[in-house]
Amino acid sequence: MGALAGRVALVTGGSRGIGRGIALRLGRDGALVGVHYGSSKEAAEEVVAEVRAEGGEAFAVRAELGVPGDAAELFGGVDEELRLRGLEPRLDVLVNNAATSGSARIDEVTPELVDRICAVNVKSLVLVVQEALRRMGEGGRVVNISSAVTRMAYPESVVYSMSKGAMDTMTLALAKELGPRGITVNAVSPGFIATDMNAKLRTTEEGAARLASMSAFGRIGQPADIADVVAFLASGDSRWVTGQLIDGSGGSGL
Ligand code: NAP
Repeated sequence: MGALAGRVALVTGGSRGIGRGIALRLGRDGALVGVHYGSSKEAAEEVVAEVRAEGGEAFAVRAELGVPGDAAELFGGVDEELRLRGLEPRLDVLVNNAATSGSARIDEVTPELVDRICAVNVKSLVLVVQEALRRMGEGGRVVNISSAVTRMAYPESVVYSMSKGAMDTMTLALAKELGPRGITVNAVSPGFIATDMNAKLRTTEEGAARLASMSAFGRIGQPADIADVVAFLASGDSRWVTGQLIDGSGGSGL
């Protein structure tokens, strides 16, 4: 029996990158995993197939985040998948991983970029958490995928960095709020992880080497490096850990 046997988990943005790695790991640990996606249906279905191939169970659920009704659509889909399996609406583990980036220094920022990043990374985050908490009981887990940019200046993406700062602040506030319900809330802050989000920065050997050199280990991180930290935070073993912003940057900036 895995550490998450009998638990229901939802990974937003589980179709690609870090979210994919997290969905695979939670599935391996025995959770029934909701693999959320926005537009990458095929990729999400591949993740579901991979979880099943490893003996786990998962389903794909679509919702565009950052638009009106996003959280309701997401949880409508999750509830329906549970109903098909004879389960009442519930959620034990929520991983808030989906986010949009957007490289722009302060003089390049547009009102549209601010609106877009805030809609997906802040507004939708709050509304998704709100819906999740209506279904979460004692022993629940909320894991936020933040970023090292909240503690290491990254002026290249100032609004994105600010949005992750909001996520960190929410992590603290909710940890205090939800402690009495036996729910933990923590954040993991990756440094550079090899995903589509930073593919452009890695197209040249020089670019890839620069990203690798930021970590104390001299390599760029992989989704599994973050998924393994999330697995601990999603498990019962993390019951006494809450309100923490856990660095997952491979020692970047030491
Ligand atoms: P990614 O490869 O770009 O994947 C993003 C995922 O989020 C996809 O599954 C995508 O779904 C989903 N998504 C994004 N915007 C969405 C929207 N508006 N509606 C619905 N789904 C949406 O990203 P990643 O690099 O794995 O990043 C995952 C998380 O880690 C993010 O929170 C990011 O800020 C954080 N992070 C990443 C790094 C890094 O170096 N990669 C570093 C620090 C923090 P679809 O493709 O289906 O639309």
